[in-house]
Amino acid sequence: MNYSVDDKGYYGKFGGAYIPEMLHPNVEELVENYLKIMAEPDFQEEFRALLKDYVGRPTPLYFAKRLSEKYNTKVYLKREDLNHTGAHKVNNTIGQILVAKRLGKKRIIAETGAGQHGVATATACALMGLQCIVYMGEVDIERQKPNVERMKLLGAEVRPATSGSKTLKDATNEAIRDWINNPVDTHYIIGSVVGPHPYPDMVARFQAVISEEIRWQLKEHEGTEEPDYVIACVGGGSNAAGAFYHFLDSENVKLIASEAAGFGVDSGKTAATTALGTEGVIHGSRTLLMQTEDGQIVEPHSISAGLDYPGIGPIHAHLFDSKRAEFFSITDDDAYASGVQLCRLEGIIPALESSHALAVLDKKQFKPDDIVVINLSGRGDKDLQTYIARGGY
Ligand SMILES: *Cc1c(COP(=O)(O)O)cnc(C)c1O
Repeated sequence: MNYSVDDKGYYGKFGGAYIPEMLHPNVEELVENYLKIMAEPDFQEEFRALLKDYVGRPTPLYFAKRLSEKYNTKVYLKREDLNHTGAHKVNNTIGQILVAKRLGKKRIIAETGAGQHGVATATACALMGLQCIVYMGEVDIERQKPNVERMKLLGAEVRPATSGSKTLKDATNEAIRDWINNPVDTHYIIGSVVGPHPYPDMVARFQAVISEEIRWQLKEHEGTEEPDYVIACVGGGSNAAGAFYHFLDSENVKLIASEAAGFGVDSGKTAATTALGTEGVIHGSRTLLMQTEDGQIVEPHSISAGLDYPGIGPIHAHLFDSKRAEFFSITDDDAYASGVQLCRLEGIIPALESSHALAVLDKKQFKPDDIVVINLSGRGDKDLQTYIARGGY
């Protein structure tokens, strides 16, 4: 079984590039160039130096002693929460902006829902001195004021999307329209392993630094490069793709993906894409998504904005379909409880997205000598209002 993208841009039957004719030149330019650019020594040198000195990599692989004692197994946390800007997303925006520069682009566009990807993009643009326009649904702008202000502070222009439900998918439509109208000087930074080929593969390669580090760090801790399990949460799936990447072909390493069940898989307020999804096209690729019988996208729900997405990257649809990865659906309540527990046991306030990965410890029995690596995708400062609103801690 092959888990990498094939030369047509597919993972098994998922992926591809389902885009309007007018976008073909833009996407084709990327397909033609992304691997070549990423292989250049000069590119690798600049990317690695920024990851080290600007982002703060390598992030620690931390043996969580008290958490391990509680679950009677060996739990390691990959500390993506310690990255500059507080999550893994910056690995990708730095990578893509270096590609954009080498393609001669002067202008960067992005879409954002909760604003996390918008902030990571605005950060990279400020660093490189490039113009940055972030499309965001009018409703999301209202809901996510702190991130809107962060983007503005970093010098980005935030443009409201005022059509439809005025949320993420409408912002995506606006960004695509912009890209069609500005094919020469503009690069569109997509924030997860979603979108038309080559985005899922390009983003996975930038995030693959996570599993590259896990291998040598685990060797230092345990004398082996391969854990028994790697667990990560999945919204679109970029932190999971990065945490899985260098283990995809290691049969002894079991991969676990954790998606957001919201109020529960059968509640109608959920983002449990593999549990409920069917095949279709979203955001330019064939994958699993939550849709009605006539193909209307179902509005997702999750306590964590980063997992509040009705689809899943094509690589994960393939990992699910081929059973290479095991998928868990974690409710808002369970994620919240696991987040609070990490605060108390380890002194780490996790992002609520990452708390979905932590919650797998309550759903699956691990053996005392199992090595379980959990990707802690981000820190919880951004979720403080949600923690406060729930209370009870
Ligand atoms: C955005 C985000 C996610 C979800 O995105 P993926 O592409 O699925 O990784 C997960 N965790 C955090 C902290 C995020 O900010």
